[in-house]
Amino acid sequence: MQGTNHLVFNATLAVATESLLHPAGPAFHWTNVFSWLAHAGAPSAVGTVLVYKCVYYSCTLLTARLPDVDQRIRIFGKHRGFTHSFVGVLFFAFALLGVGLLLTNFLLKHGIYVSQEVLTIGLLAILSLTLGCLFHIIGDSVTFKGVDFFWPSEGRVGVPQDYSIRNETWSEYIFVYCVMLVVGFLVGISFFGF
Ligand SMILES: [Zn+2]
Repeated sequence: MQGTNHLVFNATLAVATESLLHPAGPAFHWTNVFSWLAHAGAPSAVGTVLVYKCVYYSCTLLTARLPDVDQRIRIFGKHRGFTHSFVGVLFFAFALLGVGLLLTNFLLKHGIYVSQEVLTIGLLAILSLTLGCLFHIIGDSVTFKGVDFFWPSEGRVGVPQDYSIRNETWSEYIFVYCVMLVVGFLVGISFFGF
């Protein structure tokens, strides 16, 4: 899948995941707008959830193209191997957690208090950055080449090649934008409460 399509596909899957599982807080309904207006200017739970949603969406987009770093840096081995695998995603998540823990420790040692709110946002960012990589892998798994999801064991994982899409062809655009339209339609319906 191409870079731009990865961004669109990640945004689509991020919306779908948020609508179904709410990793960044409760879903918004159009009637919420009235409560926002009623509480405009006052710090509220709505403001906190909006921050969570911004962190969630920006982080899932930030890593939309990250697994393809294996095309530029050779230490990751062949393209669509380690960085497109379960092990790779797990490694990335633990590396982020490690950095987060080191940073928190460093701040505490220097007398800087880290609030529960900041810690929650940090954990949400780690989850969202990891999800962004997973969405990328899902996007690549519908293409002809598939991914080596169970790296280091070799073997293509993805939809059957007869039904897969070809990279950088019209089928890729049709697939990405059809998924986007369907998700957009379903989310629109749930937002307006039909
Ligand atoms: Zn890729």
